[in-house]
Amino acid sequence: MTEHQAKDTTLNLVFAADLGGTNLRAAMIDDNGKIVSRFKNPTPRSANAAQIVRAIVTAANECEEASRQIGARIRAASVVVPGTVDISGKVVVQAPNVPCLDGFGLAKALNDELGWQVLLENDANAASMGEMWRGAARNCRTIICVTLGTGVGGGIILDGQLWRGPDGSAGEIGHTSVDPFSGLKCKCGNIGCLELFASATAIVRMTREALPNYPNTILDTAQLNSQRIYEAGLQGDELALAVLKKMGNYLGIGLANLVNLLNPEMIVIGGGVANGWQLFEQYMHQQVKDRAFPLPVRRVKIVPAECGDDAGLLGAAYLAFRNANC
Ligand SMILES: [Zn+2]
Repeated sequence: MTEHQAKDTTLNLVFAADLGGTNLRAAMIDDNGKIVSRFKNPTPRSANAAQIVRAIVTAANECEEASRQIGARIRAASVVVPGTVDISGKVVVQAPNVPCLDGFGLAKALNDELGWQVLLENDANAASMGEMWRGAARNCRTIICVTLGTGVGGGIILDGQLWRGPDGSAGEIGHTSVDPFSGLKCKCGNIGCLELFASATAIVRMTREALPNYPNTILDTAQLNSQRIYEAGLQGDELALAVLKKMGNYLGIGLANLVNLLNPEMIVIGGGVANGWQLFEQYMHQQVKDRAFPLPVRRVKIVPAECGDDAGLLGAAYLAFRNANC
């Protein structure tokens, strides 16, 4: 074998950053999905776009230093954005928690600073890709990922491709109507969205509302959060169990609609609320079984996510590798 034909064994890496409303997390990731180096800092407060760019460049420089020491080559970069990204993957259309980025060409600004090809992706879409590449949905090609956090996010992958829609706004599963006559208004303007029943915010609200009806509950209104409610449920607290049952029922209604519509192989449930899996899964499964057609119900596996907080970073890395064609 001549030197020219020898296989290039240089480690290929991409830089992935996950810009959350609270933290900026970043990593260098190899083409097997191994995280080589990490970075985490608070997302700049009351920031302008230039400060966000500077924070990501700082993260990139720190991660690059670590990769240089092992002789790796950085092929591309990708940034996960908590909002809508235009279909080219270059411009943030709208990011409610980081509004200074609305309409901003973040990919070009980072490319100017770093010299790497930069791709942007919505957070729920990136998490879906991460779960398919290295998580619960390995070996699947048509999946839906539902993230139950402060809100409810969704990502749809059809036959291996993210379904973004012509405006990049597809996958808003949290804002599909599951109880339109509930009178509960969502921040999106609609009434009865799934997010009003299955998010962490919703679980806390439903617990507060029902608290007067459960005088023996161990829960009180002080420092109420979804984790605390889930832990109370594990101890048999009736209020917590009733809230997680209600949440599971509504989630199941939402998922039944998706099963009939898209015939997915798998639905992956992620986000902090998924910690309460064992307390809501039976109600979720029952609703899906009762409402969706038997054929797609037999096919679909509904499972908890496996990548945790790294799902977005991994998915972004996968998309960056694919985009850079390496
Ligand atoms: Zn909504």
